[in-house]
Amino acid sequence: MGFGRRVHIKTDEEVELLRVSSLLVGKTLAVVAERIRPGVTTLQLDAVAEEFIRDHGAEPGFKGYGGFPNSLCTSVNESVVHGIPNDRPLEDGDIVSVDCGVLKNGFYGDSAYTFAVGDIASEVQKLLDVTKECLRLAIEQAVVGKRIGDIGFACQSYAEQHGFGVVRELVGHGLGRELHEAPEVPNYGRRGNGPRLMDGMVLAIEPMINLGRKEIFHEDDGWTIVTADRKVSAHFEHDVVVRKNQADVLSSFNEIEEVLKKNRNV
Ligand code: MG
Ligand code: MG
Repeated sequence: MGFGRRVHIKTDEEVELLRVSSLLVGKTLAVVAERIRPGVTTLQLDAVAEEFIRDHGAEPGFKGYGGFPNSLCTSVNESVVHGIPNDRPLEDGDIVSVDCGVLKNGFYGDSAYTFAVGDIASEVQKLLDVTKECLRLAIEQAVVGKRIGDIGFACQSYAEQHGFGVVRELVGHGLGRELHEAPEVPNYGRRGNGPRLMDGMVLAIEPMINLGRKEIFHEDDGWTIVTADRKVSAHFEHDVVVRKNQADVLSSFNEIEEVLKKNRNV
């Protein structure tokens, strides 16, 4: 996938449009979260998401992108990312990464959350917690004066402290009028290396962390990425604007986590 070479610094007006798109993704994922339970299929989740996106005056950002057939990427268990929704019911103990993109007012939003289906093993819950913390630590580095390598270093070192594998072949990216813009944002790296972060850069930061080894392969469907050792993998993604002192996080997990909290208390 080509990211282009030019980094597009966004104006404040463009940032606000990106915020609208990014927040719509979070709301879509919350609607999906309401439906996640054993027995539901990822195709059913995809249909709910597509309807919600269109009802809110936006287009699914992934559908037709590079020929991708659906509105969501749904990656279950050992699938890392780019899973195609299908009619296999989710089972108790599964995890599913749901990655969603929308296009509204000419700008993309792109965010992902990994959900537990029913009760999951404690080591898998640990993977989810660590991957989400990797994202938070990575976002802490997305400030003026740091470099792309600082983001990757923060993510990689935290994941590896816990013995987890950091996927190398797939990376985060710039975001704007294109779903994938420069620069690439690897989830591994060295402090002080790579392109300098500038005020107004918009980045989709998306750790993909494996319970086992870092190696992956492509499934025969041409899309799905799977761990080589077939152990589970987690994925969380936020869209952020690089600013002085602190990144401005455009997307939100708040609605998703309200749903999850409510469902736990039922
Ligand atoms: Mg995404
Ligand atoms: Mg992305």
